[in-house]
Amino acid sequence: MNLQDLVQLVASNTSYLGLNAPRDERVLRALRAVDRQKFIPAGHELTPSLISTEEIGHLRQTIQNLEVESEQYTEFNPPPTEKVMEFIKNLFEAAEPVASSAWTLHLDARELAYQDIPLVIGHEQTCSQPSMVAFMCDILSLEPGMRVLEIGTGCGYHAAVTSEILGAAGHLVSIERLPRLAELGWKNLQEHFNGQLEQRITLLEGDGSFGIYNLGPFDRIYFTAAVNEETFNPTPFARQLALSGVLLYPQQQGSMVRRKYDLGKLEDTQVYKNVCFVPLQGKNGGME
Ligand code: SAH
Repeated sequence: MNLQDLVQLVASNTSYLGLNAPRDERVLRALRAVDRQKFIPAGHELTPSLISTEEIGHLRQTIQNLEVESEQYTEFNPPPTEKVMEFIKNLFEAAEPVASSAWTLHLDARELAYQDIPLVIGHEQTCSQPSMVAFMCDILSLEPGMRVLEIGTGCGYHAAVTSEILGAAGHLVSIERLPRLAELGWKNLQEHFNGQLEQRITLLEGDGSFGIYNLGPFDRIYFTAAVNEETFNPTPFARQLALSGVLLYPQQQGSMVRRKYDLGKLEDTQVYKNVCFVPLQGKNGGME
């Protein structure tokens, strides 16, 4: 698996297509420009499980079941793609000879960077599934030259893809509340954009749940962590958006909400079902 394979997986992901995202070639081009593996920190094990010979048999059975019971999957819980299945099968076949009584399976998240799956990046946070990043970029209708706010920088992968679409004339402001991840995001984005980072992206540390008043107005604002729909107040964002601005946020209850505003007035709302994100922290719609 390499970056080309990953973009191919995204381009053929039927759950993403099922959400009727316009297939914007610019989004795929941006995914091709960002080497996801360079954004995933090493040392985070995906499934640090102790697996016995019996369990390998059980896993194999589970894989077979997964292959036949595909109807139970939902839009954003799709069946593993063939390539992922093949990868998992090869993995177990390679491991079986060493399974005498029990052995530990170490799967470093970084090794799986070119799979179309979310990955752990430490501090109980994840790097979003590339299909989800593509889907969000699509429904935000990003255009080169736009000014955009991202809440939740994480490892910086999504920010890099967004900035690739916005181009050197656009600007992304991204805020991350966890200092260690803000540092990781900064380092990754610095490596990716080299001398262009400051021109393209402003990185901030802190609670972005109310947005950033003094750096707007923004053409687009999106969250990469899920708000609690009972406590989240989107009103502050309406005043931070430019004309025909769009606010996009996942909810902990599993929907992705897209709200379009004109001059601070809500124009229309679209809701996409079955998405799964880490919960937002912070004072507006967050856990604290
Ligand atoms: N876009 C990221 C996904 C990160 S997961 C990527 O591509 O890797 C969500 C991120 O949102 C986490 O890093 C989490 O720490 C951050 N976050 C959660 N609540 C926040 C808040 N109130 N303000 C800023 N960042 C927040």
